[in-house]
Amino acid sequence: MGKASKDKRDIYYRKAKEEGWRARSAFKLLQIDEEFSVFQGVKRVVDLCAAPGSWSQVLSRRLYVPAKMSPDCRDDDLPLIVAIDLQPMAPIDGVIQVQGDITNARTAEVVIRHFDGCKADLVVCDGAPDVTGLHDMDEFVQSQLILALKLFFSQVTFAKPKSSRNSSIEAFVVCENYSPPEGFNEKDLYLLLEKVGSPSGVDDLDCRSGWLEGPNKIYIPFLACGDLSGYDSDRSYPLPSVEGGGSYRSLDPVQPPIAPPYKTALEMKKASNHGIADMDKLPLDS
Ligand code: SAM
Repeated sequence: MGKASKDKRDIYYRKAKEEGWRARSAFKLLQIDEEFSVFQGVKRVVDLCAAPGSWSQVLSRRLYVPAKMSPDCRDDDLPLIVAIDLQPMAPIDGVIQVQGDITNARTAEVVIRHFDGCKADLVVCDGAPDVTGLHDMDEFVQSQLILALKLFFSQVTFAKPKSSRNSSIEAFVVCENYSPPEGFNEKDLYLLLEKVGSPSGVDDLDCRSGWLEGPNKIYIPFLACGDLSGYDSDRSYPLPSVEGGGSYRSLDPVQPPIAPPYKTALEMKKASNHGIADMDKLPLDS
C-alpha cells in the first residue's frame, strides 16, 4: 500500500503524522486516558515495550512537558518517565530509556533504582504476550494472566479504544487500585494462581471475595473508549487537499525506528538484489 493510500484508509496513521506522533498507537493511550484518567496525579511511570515511542511521547507531552513549563515546578518534582524496550529508540523529552528485556528481573531493578526504590504510580505496556499457536495452551496462559491481574487490582476492565480497529481483536486491560493479597510474596505467585484456578482452593485465599462465584466465574467489563462519534479506524476518509482540487502530499513518518528487528532482513534482501552472494560483505551490525 502506498503512503497516500494508507493515509486515506487509515485516518489515525495520517493524524499521527500530522500531530507528530511516532505511531498511530499514541491515540489508543490518549483514548484510554479519556475514559479512565490514568495520568491523574502520576509522578512515576514506566512504559514497557516502548519503541518506537509514541506512548512515551504521550507521557512526555501529558506529564513532563506541562510540569517543566510550570514556573512552580522544581527539578526534583518533575515526573519520572522510564521507557523499556529490547530496541533502542530516538530520545524523547523527559524520558529515561532502558534497553532491556521486560521479563528480566535485572531490568526491573534498573527501573526501581531510577525511582529511588519507590513504586510506580502507573505502568503502561503495549506488548502482547507471545502465543504458541496451540489454542488451548494460549487460552490457558491468557486466562492465567487475567487471574493474576484480578488478584492484584480491585478493578479490571477490558478497554477497546476507538483508534483500535474493530476488525482486530486487540483490547487493553486497565487495572486500577493496586491491592495485592495480604502477606503476598512474589515467590508464591504460582501457588496462588493454582489455588485461584481451582474452585476448591478459593476459600483458602485471603483475597477479595465476590469475584469468583463458582468454577470459571470471572466477569471483566468490556468498555469502548475514546470519542465514539469520532474517527472510525475501519473507515476510509478523503484526503484533504484532493478534496480542494490540489494534489495531496503524504507526510513522512515522524520518527522511523532506529534499529528495528527487521533491519537485518532488509539489508540481506538489498544485498541479494545487488547480487552480493557473500554474506561476509554485509554491514557488521547486521
Ligand atoms: N507502544 C509503542 C509505541 O507506541 O510506539 C509500540 C510498541 S510495539 C507494538 C511492541 C514493542 O515491544 C516492540 O518495540 C518490541 O521490541 C517490544 N518488546 C517485545 N518483547 C519485549 C520484551 N520482552 N522486553 C522489552 N521489549 C519487548
